[in-house]
Amino acid sequence: MIVQMLTVGPFQENCYVIGDEGTGQGALIDPGDEAARIAIAVEGTNLEISQIIVTHAHIDHVGAIAQLADEYACPVLMHEEAEAMLQTVPQQAMMMGMRFGRVPKVDRNVADFEVLEVGPLRLHALYTPGHAPGHLSFLVEDGNLVFSGDALFAGSVGRTDLMGGSMEVLMRSIEERFLPLPDETRVLSGHGPETTIGRERMSNPFLQGPMGGAF
Ligand SMILES: [Zn+2]
Repeated sequence: MIVQMLTVGPFQENCYVIGDEGTGQGALIDPGDEAARIAIAVEGTNLEISQIIVTHAHIDHVGAIAQLADEYACPVLMHEEAEAMLQTVPQQAMMMGMRFGRVPKVDRNVADFEVLEVGPLRLHALYTPGHAPGHLSFLVEDGNLVFSGDALFAGSVGRTDLMGGSMEVLMRSIEERFLPLPDETRVLSGHGPETTIGRERMSNPFLQGPMGGAF
C-alpha cells in the first residue's frame, strides 16, 4: 500500500495520498490546501486518483478539494452530517481574515460502517463525531492503519470548542471506535506526527481516566 503524507497550508494539515501499487488505483484523504503540490505528489506515485475522501468539513481539510476534484474528474465523499459545516467554509475563512475559493460539491455521502474500495484496498468508515459534525475516520482492512482525521492525535485529541463540537461525544467516539483496535494499529491523523493505538492508550493524557477514558 502506498501512503504519502503531505502537510499543507497555514494550518499545517496532513493530506494523504493513498493507493495500491498493483492496480495503480488511488485516493486522496483531506486535500486541505496547496492543490498544485498535492497534484505533483500524486504524479510521483503514478496513482490514478478515483475519489477524494473527506474526514470533516473544517476549512483546513477541504481547501484543495474543488480544484483536485476537477483535475481528476473524481467524486468527493463525505458524511452527510458534515454538509452544513461545509457550507460555512467561506464564513470560517472570513472570520480568520482569509478568502476561500470554491466550496466543493460532495457527490456521495458515506455512512458509518460503509466500506470504500480503492482498488483492492478496503477502507472501513468509522463514525467518530465530537470534534466536528459527521466526522469520519477510516480503518484500512488488514492494514493495521487508521486515518483518524482530527478525532485522535499523537498525545492529544481534537478540539471541541468549534461549532458542533462536544468533548463528551468525542471521548465516546474514541473509546468505542479507536480503543478496541489492536495496539500496533498505526494512527495517521489530520495534524502532527504518526502514532499508534498502543502508544495513545498508554500515554495520551486524555485517555488516562478511570475507565480508560476522560469520561
Ligand atoms: Zn478539524
